[in-house]
Amino acid sequence: MSILQRYRVWPTITLLSIGLMACSNHHQSGYQRIDDWAQKATHERPLCIGYPNNEAIDMSDFYEWYTANHLDQACISNAGDPFAEDEDPTSALGLERDVIEWFAPYYGIDTNNVWGIVTTGGTDGNNHGLYFGMNFLKQLSDKSPIVYLSEEAHYSNTRLLDLQQLDVRYVATTPMGNMDPEALRQVIDPTHPCLILFAYGSTFRGAIDPIAELNQVLAQYPEMPVYRHIDAALCGGYLPFTSYKALTDLSKLGCQSISVSGQKFFGSDEPSGIFLTTQDIYQSQDKHSSHLNDRMKMINCSRSAMNPLKFWWLIHRNGEKRWAEEAETIMANTQYLMHELDSIHWPNWANEGSNTVFFKRPASHIMDKYTLASGYHEAFGGELAHIVVMQGVSKEIIDEFIQDLSNESHAEH
Ligand SMILES: *Cc1c(COP(=O)(O)O)cnc(C)c1O
Repeated sequence: MSILQRYRVWPTITLLSIGLMACSNHHQSGYQRIDDWAQKATHERPLCIGYPNNEAIDMSDFYEWYTANHLDQACISNAGDPFAEDEDPTSALGLERDVIEWFAPYYGIDTNNVWGIVTTGGTDGNNHGLYFGMNFLKQLSDKSPIVYLSEEAHYSNTRLLDLQQLDVRYVATTPMGNMDPEALRQVIDPTHPCLILFAYGSTFRGAIDPIAELNQVLAQYPEMPVYRHIDAALCGGYLPFTSYKALTDLSKLGCQSISVSGQKFFGSDEPSGIFLTTQDIYQSQDKHSSHLNDRMKMINCSRSAMNPLKFWWLIHRNGEKRWAEEAETIMANTQYLMHELDSIHWPNWANEGSNTVFFKRPASHIMDKYTLASGYHEAFGGELAHIVVMQGVSKEIIDEFIQDLSNESHAEH
């Protein structure tokens, strides 16, 4: 932990020292309030394994390059379409396009047919998925689409549906938290176009919606126009680098777009993400907004150039090799955690391909020590907690956690 924690300090220190060179001690800005904050943010981070925090963050080399090139003395904004031919030299749109094209094959989209943007986060990508889906379906039908998503999908999607004023039908899940094909069959209204949002994974039980099975239900309504978007904010980062990569192959699954967070698996040091769709879907946005600037089909005007630069850096520094290693470690440590819980007879569950393990809720001092999130489900005996096995959830931390749990169960007897 200490080495990781030391690494984490660097980006912050580098940032704080820029423009504050007059101080002889680079760690101190002279502003007590912000120095205190930096101290807390870097040295007093609690052990957090209950949320998808990536503890393998190191952007120090990026910030060195950035400041050495005096990029901190210019405003660089990616307003516009990364795939437009004439690139504005004051933007990093060309590099943003590189990022999207690099990721395309991992999500089953042809590099020549991909369109996408680097987003401000998973939520921004889902906003685009819903918006592009709604515009696409409007081309095909005069009737307004109905959005289908599971009751366990991330809450932010409900906020987006409110904002976009879309009709929604929530689909019940199986006990493991997956959208239930039978429940979809029951709520579907085939007289309206279908905009379906799949969750990878669901909020508490980390479920990965079974798209192939859900597609069989949708296939029963061949007249119904369908747009499929995957909210893969969490699992969409590591899945393409594992034996489960078929789960993120959009063309095989018949999906039109996907959103993945950058600060979860990929290791960005701030919220960001990627939104990928096809050129066909992008072009279909036209007619709806012909009175607007038709080069600007995305929602935001000015967008961060920093996030595409960081993604570009991560791709070239980590690339497939390191991400594949990290993804394998995550999958192996998920199995290890479950195996160790079994060995002390602590009830636990996980969905196939998911890095979220949920289990009987431990005592509150253990919940606090590991910053665990709590949930409640009758089907699993009531009070639960979960661990999201990210890069920082090492075997050593798992061993310590298991030791704490077994001390607790001995104390009970
Ligand atoms: C984290 C998460 C979100 C929200 O993504 P942000 O990057 O925080 O905006 C949405 N859906 C799922 C499945 C998530 O795990």
